[in-house]
Amino acid sequence: MAEPQALVTGGASGIGAATCAALLADGWMVTSLDLRPSPLTGVRSVIADVTDEAGLRAAVASAGPLRALVCSAGISGSSAGDGPVEAADAAAFDAVLAVNLRGAFLAAGAAWAALTAQPGAAIVTVSSVLGLTGGGGPFRSHAYVAAKGGLVSLTKALAAAGAASGLRANCVAPGLVRTPLARRVSEDPALAEWVAAKQPLLGDLLEPDDVGALIAFLCGPAARAVTGQTIAVDAGWQLD
Ligand code: NAD
Repeated sequence: MAEPQALVTGGASGIGAATCAALLADGWMVTSLDLRPSPLTGVRSVIADVTDEAGLRAAVASAGPLRALVCSAGISGSSAGDGPVEAADAAAFDAVLAVNLRGAFLAAGAAWAALTAQPGAAIVTVSSVLGLTGGGGPFRSHAYVAAKGGLVSLTKALAAAGAASGLRANCVAPGLVRTPLARRVSEDPALAEWVAAKQPLLGDLLEPDDVGALIAFLCGPAARAVTGQTIAVDAGWQLD
């Protein structure tokens, strides 16, 4: 039988790249859809921007008959100039939502026909523990929290719409992970210490593979009865 095909948005770095590696190891044929090429041997790269609907549709169509879609493309609030609500900046809010939430909505729509044509197909979205808890502490990007909270609900809606076709949709909510997106944390000792205390299981940031392994599991047949769920990978962040 031909290898199943997966498309990973944001597959060129961090959690997306770790997901590509985990899917490859599980025998998937993997395409990374990103602004830049994947650094991994064996991964096909499609250069596209998830905020550009036409380009995204063409890129998804070029990937062939997908059995899994992983929506990992994302930007931090701070990179878009977003901050707390009292400093409301509508342009920054739109920019953060365009990649982190609207990008996943558009990617799911573009892949929907292919995914619902194959029973056992899966979508996995990447939220954040900040989207579950509301952020807080030093994390004050309200647009990012809103986008990540929105992904939880979007994923439930996708799960409800896809179930009759055998399509599953699940969401992962990572704690703080050592990737370029979280560079601000790695480079600030006080912030890194705050995060380490929030993640007592590791006393440190997570590694991208900690999340990639769960995403690959959720894409595969062992998770065939799991849908509509949000699973935190947060090293104990939400335990008091
Ligand atoms: P990363 O910066 O390492 O990877 C993000 C990738 O998304 C990059 O390769 C980037 O080029 C791509 N990307 C950004 N904008 C894009 C666009 N418009 N179109 C296509 N690709 C685009 O970051 P990461 O930490 O691996 O983040 C992956 C996902 O995980 C994001 O959705 C992020 O919000 C989420 N997340 C990260 C953390 C963390 O601590 N790093 C925690 C929780 C959730």
